Amino acid sequence: MQRRHPWVFESAIARGGADSGETVRVESHDGTFLAWAAFSPLSKIRARAWSFVETQRIDAAFFVTACARAVAARGLFDLQSDGVRLVHGEADGLPGLIVDRYGDTLVAQFLSAGVERWKDVLADALLRATGLTKLYERSDASGREREGLKPVTGWLRGEGPTEITIREHDWKLSLDIATGHKTGFYLDQRDSRQRFAELAKHRRFKRVLNCFCYTGGFTVAALAGLKAAGALEGAELVSVDSSQPALDRARGHLALNGFGGEGSGIKAEFLDANVNTVLREFIDQGRTFDAIVLDPPKFAPTVAHAERAARAYKDINRLALKLLEPGGVLLTFSCSGGISADLFHKIVASAGLDAGVDGYIAERLGAAPDHPMTIEFPEGEYLKGLVVVRKPA
Ligand code: SAH
Repeated sequence: MQRRHPWVFESAIARGGADSGETVRVESHDGTFLAWAAFSPLSKIRARAWSFVETQRIDAAFFVTACARAVAARGLFDLQSDGVRLVHGEADGLPGLIVDRYGDTLVAQFLSAGVERWKDVLADALLRATGLTKLYERSDASGREREGLKPVTGWLRGEGPTEITIREHDWKLSLDIATGHKTGFYLDQRDSRQRFAELAKHRRFKRVLNCFCYTGGFTVAALAGLKAAGALEGAELVSVDSSQPALDRARGHLALNGFGGEGSGIKAEFLDANVNTVLREFIDQGRTFDAIVLDPPKFAPTVAHAERAARAYKDINRLALKLLEPGGVLLTFSCSGGISADLFHKIVASAGLDAGVDGYIAERLGAAPDHPMTIEFPEGEYLKGLVVVRKPA
């Protein structure tokens, strides 16, 4: 806390207590003020800081200011989308609060005891900061349990359709805020999808494999890039996920963007399958690709899971590299907070060694800037990606 890290762990507390979400004064052993924080009696993260300023009052006005500041910060970036993360927890001084905007609808996750306690104030502050009227709650993430909170979903303010279509860069994507993953969509990969579109345009990919595709964002991006290059004809795209509803939506996204259909010259496959199995099958069949995306779910939520997760990452990367044509491009990601960027690089390097594939790290990728990191909170860097180019034959 002295270094403005926003968490106090259970093991670091000598005495004191409070109700769930209550504001407490955090002091060092000699009584020096450290922070005002929200107490969470059941969580290992026993307190999360609201402010490191002793004279700061933690009241409704504090949250109005914090929400307005978070919303204003998004105006600093040209995000090229009307799907935007407006509040990104600790990075915006609101630990445990996630708010995404999809068009004129806000979707919020209240994931800590502190933001749960201030929910009504925060809901009003968010509408005030955005000038919007609709806010849907998706507090059904597993983190709530660790805070002793039950899952809650539904309209918190206003009402409207849960099915929404957003624009992102040159394409459109639909989502359902009530049933989609997280708040409905993975906004954090927006810039990497755009990068993939640019690569597709430049490299005129013929065969694309999108693993863990969810609703096909990277597939649509590749098609947009190919279209811009006039290279749609003959393109083959395979998208793999273990969620059938996500795949149905992915298929729908082709039509939504005017791709595919009869006589389009595109071959698009959507496989409801385990990525590990599919990669092995493709190797056995001798299939190859000139672009592959690997965007798996979080294998290591914390450092404690890092070792097993490292093996899982290495495995899929080794298989994917084997399927890559010489000169081909692999976009590989880890969204595990427990795996550092450095470790991820090492994992991919050792996957390359095992696969017998030599490559360049052409670029490093990360979450879009509406998912900011702050200097004091290294845990905020969860999503990292590498663009690996296999050396030409
Ligand atoms: N790239 C996507 C987001 C991926 S999220 C985008 O840009 O929107 C991770 C996805 O992996 C989820 O859709 C989940 O359903 C899927 N998934 C998880 N485990 C899987 C497995 N073993 N095989 C295939 N898909 C899996």
